[in-house]
Amino acid sequence: MIPYFQPTICDEEINEVVATLKSGWLTTGARVKTFEKNLENYLDVKHVIALNSCTAGLHLSLLSLGVKEGDEVITTPFTFAATANVILQVGARPVFVDIDKDTYNIDVNKIEEAITAKTKAIMPVHYAGQSCDMDYIMWLAEHYHLSVIEDAAHAIGTTYKGRRLGGIGDLTCFSFYATKNMTTGEGGAVATNDDSLAQMIRILSLHGISADAWDRYSDKGNWYYEVQECGWKYNMMDIQAAIGIHQLDKLDGFIRKRQEYAGIYDKELGDIIHTPVKRCDRNHVYYLYPILVPGNRDSFIFKMKEHGVSCSVHFIPLHLHPLYQRYGFKLGDYPVAESVYSQEVSLPLYPKMSVEDVMYVCKCVKECI
Ligand SMILES: *Cc1c(COP(=O)(O)O)cnc(C)c1O
Repeated sequence: MIPYFQPTICDEEINEVVATLKSGWLTTGARVKTFEKNLENYLDVKHVIALNSCTAGLHLSLLSLGVKEGDEVITTPFTFAATANVILQVGARPVFVDIDKDTYNIDVNKIEEAITAKTKAIMPVHYAGQSCDMDYIMWLAEHYHLSVIEDAAHAIGTTYKGRRLGGIGDLTCFSFYATKNMTTGEGGAVATNDDSLAQMIRILSLHGISADAWDRYSDKGNWYYEVQECGWKYNMMDIQAAIGIHQLDKLDGFIRKRQEYAGIYDKELGDIIHTPVKRCDRNHVYYLYPILVPGNRDSFIFKMKEHGVSCSVHFIPLHLHPLYQRYGFKLGDYPVAESVYSQEVSLPLYPKMSVEDVMYVCKCVKECI
């Protein structure tokens, strides 16, 4: 049996969690601070705020930019619900732009025609772990005075023109959910080079209080605090950061393994099915390995399952969900996303697989096609 995903958790993570539990300090504290500093170094960005999810990061990013009722935010329909749900949650309207047929990222050539007087931000999603065309997105943002919030849930460690994502857009949100390329169980972070956005996100992440719990309760801090905003409860715990610190140390190794296995898939399957298209000016960290299968996608997944291989589908385009249909979106609105969705299958790909596992998946794909 080859499950769709299994995290790589080793003794370092386990021992650090046990040490955290024994330390008596469970919530936001010294380990979260260390994790944030290590992420700032890894990403080469001025500020990282660790949170309890990427969704929280996307939500606070919109709030910190003042996006509100009546505003519009441009994004892709080919993503997880969190990306657009947060736009609705601040009262704004998601404006979807169809995807590029090769990378399945937002089609940057169609963004400009979607910009209106109400547009406040562009929210690109780096699908599967390959960067969007950030130069053009940043040019549009500058030209039309828009902010850019990157949904980099798939893309920690992804590079664009030699530079790691994190700080190209105004705010970059990462996910450390259990299935992502590195994990804290649940968790996320926002990276930014903007001092005031970073400060606002930090305040909004903990009830709108001006200093975090570590400052308030540690020996260095004191009992006094001020509530400055109507904030949320989105802080990361030290128990999560204990896992994250060691996952981050291993991230580049995880990425190399994913790239190695993706190379095997490319070589074994590239001639018989449609494998991912990689642009030459950016790397790909292969959070997903999406293939397009001819014929009946659902029966392919069923047959793979009978061979003991679990597959998945990323994503059901958001405009096909009942929630978004209530906002007036309908079948036919985004034909490229719909066409890719109808054929897409995500193959298992993670560092815990062996080369034999990867070869077995290839064999099954050839048989089931
Ligand atoms: C996983 C994911 C999220 C949400 O991340 P959480 O950390 O679970 O909140 C957001 N966007 C995309 C594209 C994702 O895949």
